[in-house]
Amino acid sequence: MSRTVLVTGGNRGIGLAIAQAFAKQGDRVAITHRGSGAPDGIFGVRCDVTDSESVDAAFAAVEAEFGPVEVLVANAGITDDTLLLRMSEEQFTRVLDTNLTGAYRCAKRASSKMLRAKWGRMIFISSVVGLSGGPGQVNYAASKAGLVGVARSITRELGTRNITANVVAPGFIETDMTAVLSDERRAEILKSIPAGRMASPEEVAAVVTWLAGDSAGYISGAVIPVDGGMGMGH
Ligand code: NDP
Repeated sequence: MSRTVLVTGGNRGIGLAIAQAFAKQGDRVAITHRGSGAPDGIFGVRCDVTDSESVDAAFAAVEAEFGPVEVLVANAGITDDTLLLRMSEEQFTRVLDTNLTGAYRCAKRASSKMLRAKWGRMIFISSVVGLSGGPGQVNYAASKAGLVGVARSITRELGTRNITANVVAPGFIETDMTAVLSDERRAEILKSIPAGRMASPEEVAAVVTWLAGDSAGYISGAVIPVDGGMGMGH
């Protein structure tokens, strides 16, 4: 059965791979971008997840094109790494506002239509760092850990309505976000990954499409790692 899917930050990186995987299986896919436009063949809406009005307008545009969002993938995210002593409050709150509050804005906007349909899937893209922490990542790790609480609370609130909320926690994935790492940092990280390699965005997308499908209907409030063993299941 084909579904209406919205992937935030689906114009590139992991979000794009997720959008393409849903499109490949025949779903109606929309992505958000912040001005770059949509990739070929995918419906794009402009949206900044730090702005509720922008989120509302994006959902309205998707609804007008495809009908209510049935699968939400809250993927948009940023990093702004620096050690705690140097981290300004602005750096902390900006990352939280995008990664955590942004996901809340989208989940809230999606939930009323999912409740009406008595079906829905919410998938939050967290990170291995959300559970293990990372030096220089107090803001990022806090935002990604927060998504676990969001998904589990939604599970408790909406679980009886065929709505699931899960977290996918990738490890180190080849995208623009990790391309900025120094060779030294990259080598250090590789040593901590039992699989001994980084992953492709498609390997994250495969888990997301599976979680959105009917066969995963009894999985909710879960954190699914896609990290080559880095977090050992956490
Ligand atoms: P990228 O940096 O490649 O892409 C980030 C995406 O988020 C872009 O589409 C960007 O849009 C969008 N975005 C950022 N801020 C906003 C905003 N305020 N409103 C709307 N969209 C926004 O990152 P990745 O593809 O690597 O990461 C995707 C997700 O996966 C993130 O949540 C990240 O934290 C998470 N993740 C990534 C890992 C990795 O190793 N790469 C590991 C673990 C988790 P724009 O193009 O307009 O900037």
